[in-house]
Amino acid sequence: MVGSGAEPVVGSGAPPISSLDEVRFDNRFTSALPADPDTVNHRRQVIGACYSRVAPTPAPTPQLLAHSAEMVDLLGFDPDLVSDPRFAAVFAGSTLLDGMDPHAHCYGGHQFGSWAGQLGDGRAIALGEMVDRNGQHQTLQLKGAGPTPYSRTADGLAVLRSSVREFLCSEAMAHLGVPTTRALSLVGTGDFVIRDMLYDGNPAPEPGAVVCRVAPSFVRFGNFEIFASRGDVETLRTLADFVIEADFCHLVGEPAPGRYVQFFDEVVRSTAEMVCEWLRVGFVHGVMNTDNMSILGLTIDYGPYGWIDNYDPDWTPNTTDAAHRRYRFGTQPAVAQWNLMQLANALYPLIGEAEGLQAALDGYVPCFEQKWSAMMARKLGLPGLDTDVDRELATGVLEVLRLVETDMTVFWRRLATVAATGGVDPAERVAPLADAYYRPVEVTDGHRSATSEFIEGYAARLRALGIADEARAEAMNRVNPKYVLRNYLAQLAIDSATEGGPKAIGELLDVMRRPYDEQPDRESYAALRPDWARTRVGCSQLSCSS
Ligand code: AMP
Ligand code: MG
Repeated sequence: MVGSGAEPVVGSGAPPISSLDEVRFDNRFTSALPADPDTVNHRRQVIGACYSRVAPTPAPTPQLLAHSAEMVDLLGFDPDLVSDPRFAAVFAGSTLLDGMDPHAHCYGGHQFGSWAGQLGDGRAIALGEMVDRNGQHQTLQLKGAGPTPYSRTADGLAVLRSSVREFLCSEAMAHLGVPTTRALSLVGTGDFVIRDMLYDGNPAPEPGAVVCRVAPSFVRFGNFEIFASRGDVETLRTLADFVIEADFCHLVGEPAPGRYVQFFDEVVRSTAEMVCEWLRVGFVHGVMNTDNMSILGLTIDYGPYGWIDNYDPDWTPNTTDAAHRRYRFGTQPAVAQWNLMQLANALYPLIGEAEGLQAALDGYVPCFEQKWSAMMARKLGLPGLDTDVDRELATGVLEVLRLVETDMTVFWRRLATVAATGGVDPAERVAPLADAYYRPVEVTDGHRSATSEFIEGYAARLRALGIADEARAEAMNRVNPKYVLRNYLAQLAIDSATEGGPKAIGELLDVMRRPYDEQPDRESYAALRPDWARTRVGCSQLSCSS
């Protein structure tokens, strides 16, 4: 069995944890996997080990800036625990609790299509694994709590702006129903960190912060790749068996090497699901390197990500990627497939023949297409993409979105209000969509007639299927969010936190808690991106500097 088994765990039915001294850990990763024997915190290549033990660097004056009430609850904490000053100290990395076993993962990765060698947790330190209210193990991991053996030339720290973005987006994605790592807390360290935000020779001090991320596993494709690249099949197998036992336990009884193929097949499917969900809500990850791909199909490593305002499949938020746009919105499904191929290559030594892995990899495209069709049908309020007409509607709607600069999120909500009933004047029928246009003056008669043609076909199909307007609107509004974490909204919260205090972060999080609901007093959060944000750094362009 995986796990130390020494400590009682929390699990469901236990009373809330009212003191940090009551927190129990069951550290499966560090008890089951080989550790780096060197425990001195210096940069190095780590061979034959899955992790290095390393203590977080204490923060001078930790201050809790925000927390996720849902994660406090999931972890079984009493809600009042967050006001204990020790909570901020623990989740800044300044105080360790009994049973914690802080460590950094060893992994490699393909960055922008090239093998980059050892990367590892350069500024993430996992504290240990708790058992949540549902009986699920959850790893608590600090991001920005100081250097580790994997920090290479960097400092292991994180600035407030990037930490706010990671904290808010993790939780916003979870509320949207997109698979993601979670965030428990955002703590200001009281220290300053030097960053050259635009890599243009202007380094400046910025406030430092630490996010406590939470996930059942932080294992990435790159955790496997590093051992395969070094020909270390023994550690590769140990890691694969651990991951299967810990997170794919239904495969434990399966004979090897078939279980490794089955494991890969499941990663293929969950990755397809994750990317499909990104397309549904308009999320662009920005750095889909294989070290940023979770084996659980969770969105992980929120860096220069962005949200689509005007629908443009060629858009990338990441300035580092501006030249080739490898990670633009519309290429994400293909990049995920390429990344899966790297994982398949990494698992190959465990299997010794390519056939099974190739078959699973070949399953990616049909699996993605099936998920995409189901997703688009739901967005359109159709029961499925069952006919050629339905399939044309699904591709047609994306063409309509590109005719003129059109806000993706507003468009889908407005589409839900379009009447399908017969005898409606076509101009009147398309009228609700006008709210989604960034520059209404640029809408030509040609755009209007192409949009009308689509909408009339859509309405006719809805009538043929006997779908009532009201029921359709309700169903569409459950998959087409009204509120997403628009880049400029996060930036406004960052500006406010930098100048004043963290209030705006909590307010924005609160809006993002109910992304599908109408929130009448919060209409401004659903508005089109304002003109000033079109080109502002942090709103439309982000670098990896964080
Ligand atoms: P990312 O592009 O954020 O996925 O990071 C790629 C690699 O660089 C990972 O190994 C990170 O841990 C490492 N890294 C990124 N930023 C820092 C930093 N400030 N200090 C140390 N390592 C970092
Ligand atoms: Mg990363």
